[in-house]
Amino acid sequence: MYNESNIHETHRRGRIEVICGSMFSGKTEELLRRLRRAQFARQTVEIFKPAIDTRYSNEEVVSHDKNSILSTPVEHSGNILLLSSDVEVVGIDEAQFFDKGLTDVCQQLADQGIRVIVAGLDMDFKRVPFGPMPDLCAIADDVTKVHAICVRCGALANYSHRIVAGEKQVMLGEMQEYQPLCRICYNQELRS
Ligand code: ZN
Repeated sequence: MYNESNIHETHRRGRIEVICGSMFSGKTEELLRRLRRAQFARQTVEIFKPAIDTRYSNEEVVSHDKNSILSTPVEHSGNILLLSSDVEVVGIDEAQFFDKGLTDVCQQLADQGIRVIVAGLDMDFKRVPFGPMPDLCAIADDVTKVHAICVRCGALANYSHRIVAGEKQVMLGEMQEYQPLCRICYNQELRS
């Protein structure tokens, strides 16, 4: 589990933290928890998400439990650099939908002394590493993998199984379209 002692929140020191996992694993909740804690410490916080994710709202990062913080939707990862001068902590949600340039953007921000917290899906519904997430995990100072609960057996779930037809990788999810499954149940589902 995520080790608090690794998080040097009081030091103005750049770092990259990645929070990854399947759908319904609480990634966004964990991102919001860290960002709120930084806000309580009077650090300036800015949150970005890809413009593609307009499921609930154009301006808020909203987790499934409806907690939210105002955020800025951006079309391209490069825009984050332009909008992050004077910011101490940058949060990025749904990072899997960003272009591959996001990795370099996060590196540049951290090199400038900014704490960058990135949340995103580690794999798509076919268990393929998603967008810039594998590269982000590689360059991160700290990676937290969170898990959902398998809807079939109650074990920890790693996979976001799509229960509606469609091959498109980018399909925004809700409980009607995806379910979290563990490895055993995921393989049983594929065979059935
Ligand atoms: Zn299971």
